[in-house]
Parts: sequence; C-alpha cells; structure tokens
Amino acid sequence: MTRIGIITCANCTQDANCAAVVCLADLRKRRGFFERYPKDEPLNLVGFISCAGCPTAAAPEKILRRVKAIADFKVHALHLSYCMTAVCPFVHKYEEVIREKFPNLEIVLGTHQPNRSKEEFRRGVKELLCQTLAPPQTMADMIRGNIKTPQE
Ligand code: SF4
Ligand code: SF4
Repeated sequence: MTRIGIITCANCTQDANCAAVVCLADLRKRRGFFERYPKDEPLNLVGFISCAGCPTAAAPEKILRRVKAIADFKVHALHLSYCMTAVCPFVHKYEEVIREKFPNLEIVLGTHQPNRSKEEFRRGVKELLCQTLAPPQTMADMIRGNIKTPQE
C-alpha cells in the first residue's frame, strides 16, 4: 500500500473555491500523476491540505508546517497539486525546501491530468481571482467550462 498526501494552492482551493474534485477523481481512477502507481497497489490518501497562502518572508517555514501536518503520518509520496505546478511561482523553491527537510518523502509534481494548457489554466485562475461578478464564479465553473478565459 502506498500512503500519499496532497498539497494544493490556496488561491485555487480557498479563493476560487475548488473542492479538489478533479484531483480526487483522478486519484480514484489512477489517471494523471496517479497513473505512476501499479493498478493493483492500494492507494491510501492520508491527508490533504492547501498551502499557507502566497508567501511573505516566512515562506519556507509556512509551507514546511503544512507539509509536516501530512508527513508526520507515515506518508510515502506527497503530490503537489496540478494547480500548484501551473500557477505557483514558488513551486520549485517549495519543492527544494520540502526535499531538504523531508528527504524520505517522494515529491510528485502534479495530481490530475491537465484538461487545458498551463497557460490557459493560469488565465482562467486569474479571471476567477480578479473577477467582479456577483455571485462570483468558482473553480467548478471553470472545470465545467462555463467561464471564458480571456486572451491577453
Ligand atoms: S489541481 Fe485542480 S482539482 Fe486539484 S485542487 Fe487544484 S484546481 Fe482543484
Ligand atoms: S500561488 Fe503558490 S504560494 Fe500562492 S497560494 Fe498558490 S501555491 Fe500557495
């Protein structure tokens, strides 16, 4: 059995209200970045947490505290969510400090399979975060293709 954890982007899960349904669907179906595990090997999702928000000077400490909340529970692999890999300018720095602090934890850069290019995804997230609509659209609208991603 492989014990895994997932850490997501707070902009997407908290500000854009993503309930991580696509991450979880692909985990169940062994698609995207979960395809790497043998089909007959049970996957145990031990924990799921968002990052602590966009950083200040305390960024490494903040992300490491979030990771520790999962890593303390005998996790073999930590997936950084697809949204983190697509929108986060700090993702590689985070990867570096996590690897240094938790050398036995396998870091996987991604979760669900991309359903659009990272550039389109970034534009969509920007639209969700900067919108003035009331009620605001959410990540669920973007997943269902109900919002337009503006061309820049
Ligand atoms: S990777 Fe996709 S489904 Fe998962 S939390 Fe981020 S936006 Fe939501
Ligand atoms: S962009 Fe990066 S630091 Fe900011 S909320 Fe998303 S994952 Fe966290």
